[in-house]
Amino acid sequence: METKLLPADDKGIALACQLLRQGQVVGIPTETVYGLAANALDPEAAHRIYAAKGRPSDNPLIVHIAEFQDLYPLVAHCPKLAEELADAFWPGPLTMIFPKSEKVPAATTGGMDTVAVRMPAHPAARRIIKECGLPLAAPSANLSGKPSPTKASHVYQDMQGRIPLILDGGDCQVGVESTVIAVHEDSVRLLRPGGITVEMLSGYCDVIVDDGVLHQLKEGEKALSPGMKYKHYAPSAQVILLDGPEEAFIQYVNSHAGEGVYAMAGEQEAERLTVPTLLFGGEHEEAEQARQLFDCLRECDEKGAKTVYARLPDSKGVGLAVLNRLLRAAGFAVISLDKEDAHG
Ligand code: AMP
Ligand code: MG
Repeated sequence: METKLLPADDKGIALACQLLRQGQVVGIPTETVYGLAANALDPEAAHRIYAAKGRPSDNPLIVHIAEFQDLYPLVAHCPKLAEELADAFWPGPLTMIFPKSEKVPAATTGGMDTVAVRMPAHPAARRIIKECGLPLAAPSANLSGKPSPTKASHVYQDMQGRIPLILDGGDCQVGVESTVIAVHEDSVRLLRPGGITVEMLSGYCDVIVDDGVLHQLKEGEKALSPGMKYKHYAPSAQVILLDGPEEAFIQYVNSHAGEGVYAMAGEQEAERLTVPTLLFGGEHEEAEQARQLFDCLRECDEKGAKTVYARLPDSKGVGLAVLNRLLRAAGFAVISLDKEDAHG
């Protein structure tokens, strides 16, 4: 199949809508990461998404809407708190989980009786949803297991020959996938951290951070958010996280320099590192780290990196999302640096 890569302008959006109405899959920009969109109400279309990604079909898809009232046909019940949170954070990178209505096929929800819904803020994404007149299931537009795409060129690398169209709407502003929450009467459970942070949600209700956010599931343990159980976001290189102060990080990495050894760090740290460094925002630059993270992980592969060291990020704000993705990219490999003596 030929894959067209077009700008997300009038012409591109018109073609995208035509393909989406035919049940095809289109790569679209959103503010979080690029999405692989298809009609959420058509099981065949949902299957095409799983096939294009090579994704296990028990991993549910997020349904994207353009107007708040488009939520009601998709859900059996909407808690009052969800309405308040939608009011505060939609359009934006917040996904909420609801009991699903009959309208939403099991193919879209990975067989679950709940449905995850969000209203994206990217103007092209909202225009596409409005103009095609369909709720769109849209997981990240990467091959399953690869880092999520934050540029149209990333989508092209993974999806060339697998889907008919990719729209280029520029680099993603947030850079990590949406925050996913389960909404209860007066609290929410955070299943996946993202651009809407714990601190932001805490202004509205109690926030329980699910154990799966920062810890590996044990054998046989059930993931509330199925995506979190897969090894994810991983480049081919071994990512190793180092937990310790800047000085200890620099000493440790420099004493482990060698062929194929890289670091991901901020500019200030990079100046003192003797290994090649992929710039990804430094300490207290969580938003920048989120924007750069997946591009850096993809670059590791392009450069043929074998080992990539990164410092454990701060878990404040969107830093929690960066930490969550890095832990998965590293397969939870964290080395704790002795604060007195950094030589490992
Ligand atoms: P994405 O690849 O960004 O589309 O992420 C989809 C992820 O959202 C899934 O892997 C799940 O972790 C989560 N998700 C989607 N639907 C549900 C649901 N009904 N219940 C729990 N988590 C969900
Ligand atoms: Mg994904």
